[in-house]
Amino acid sequence: MEFEFTDSQKEIRQAVAALCARFGNEYWRSCDERNAYPDEFVKTMSDAGWLAALIPQEYGGAGLGMLEAGLILEEVNKSGGNAVACHAQMYTMAAILKHGSAAQKQQYLPRIASGELRLQSFGVTEPDAGSETPRIKTFARRVGDNYVINGQKIFTSRYQHSDMLLLLTRTTPFDEVKKKTDGMSIFLVNTKENGSAIKAVPIATMVNHGTNQLFIDNLVLPREALVGEEGKGFSCLLSSLNAERILVASESVGDGRWFVDYATKYANQRRVFDRPIGMNQGVQFPIAKAHVSVAAADLMRLNAAAKFDAGVPCGAEANMAKYLATEAAWEAGEAAMNTLGGYGLTKEYHVERKWREARLYRTAPIANNLVLSFVAEHILGLPRSY
Ligand SMILES: Cc1cc2nc3c(=O)[nH]c(=O)nc-3n(C[C@H](O)[C@H](O)[C@H](O)COP(=O)(O)OP(=O)(O)OC[C@H]3O[C@@H](n4cnc5c(N)ncnc54)[C@H](O)[C@@H]3O)c2cc1C
Repeated sequence: MEFEFTDSQKEIRQAVAALCARFGNEYWRSCDERNAYPDEFVKTMSDAGWLAALIPQEYGGAGLGMLEAGLILEEVNKSGGNAVACHAQMYTMAAILKHGSAAQKQQYLPRIASGELRLQSFGVTEPDAGSETPRIKTFARRVGDNYVINGQKIFTSRYQHSDMLLLLTRTTPFDEVKKKTDGMSIFLVNTKENGSAIKAVPIATMVNHGTNQLFIDNLVLPREALVGEEGKGFSCLLSSLNAERILVASESVGDGRWFVDYATKYANQRRVFDRPIGMNQGVQFPIAKAHVSVAAADLMRLNAAAKFDAGVPCGAEANMAKYLATEAAWEAGEAAMNTLGGYGLTKEYHVERKWREARLYRTAPIANNLVLSFVAEHILGLPRSY
């Protein structure tokens, strides 16, 4: 049976595509060259309500599903843009929606939905823990009615473009818990009010990502800043992982489609040896192969999103979609690079920027090796490797 989009899903795609067309490749190249945050684009997306897609209507959001949210982000990347600037505004709020108190939901969700409040920074990764999240050392100590937090984070993105930061800490040391994922807690930090206790040092990377190292020194937060139960922060984190995987897969599908489209047009136009280079199978096969890979990844992404929206387990599909889509986008990026010859490496032709951007998702938010470990262990029943 062929997957068929509903009329409203088709309209969402068209509306987001029309919005993105107002920006285009030159806008994104300029942001990238200046290492600048795409303020105007994010504001336009926010004003149009697209970033509130997943927030229920009772809190002022659009109350759409994961499938629609994925289509929105896919269109951004398919247009030549980079949804990384705003994707976290879409899903970081899930921690509050699923685990927050009634007061937190009322206080924050409507303001996040309207775009007044930006919650798009999430501090999980630490220098010494890496992919082994339970080894984090940032520690929140109870002092009376407060928590005092000290530690370090690395690669905390969009910190300067967020009003709130979601911060993963330990509240019981690693050595004192029976299960290594126990004893972690999540806090909502107002970055403007608590800025003096957090020093953010930008990290230069090959992508325009606004990522930082955070040094947290005696950050004092009231108990109300805790999201969910103390010590259960890891399950809070887990509950948004499938959403993140599906949305990243969607962005990668968008990247893949952009590369295939760009390479196809170029291969039809560029003439060498008195014929279009696309006549050569050495040029056309990699583009065709990438198209096949992107199309297959797309189906897995839609399958994962449909299961997510139906409320049935989708961990296997979400992880496989993340893997397939990020690898397919990379394959398509390589095909586009080769198709353009020397021009692929020039800034003028945009491929090199998208190529750098597509590469990130093979590593973050989770390295693809770790996705394969999940598949090996949880789907195939192979022994745990770490
Ligand atoms: C631009 C950028 C933005 C980011 N934004 C954020 C953010 O906003 N918030 C946040 O918390 N984090 C963020 N990250 C961090 C990102 O999630 C991590 O870089 C990623 O999860 C990998 O962790 P690591 O870099 O410590 O690699 P490591 O854990 O050191 O791993 C290094 C390599 O070893 C491999 N490896 C490790 N262990 C195993 C194993 N058992 N089996 C097989 N292979 C293994 C990995 O696959 C990887 O290839 C960002 C990173 C980047 C580069």
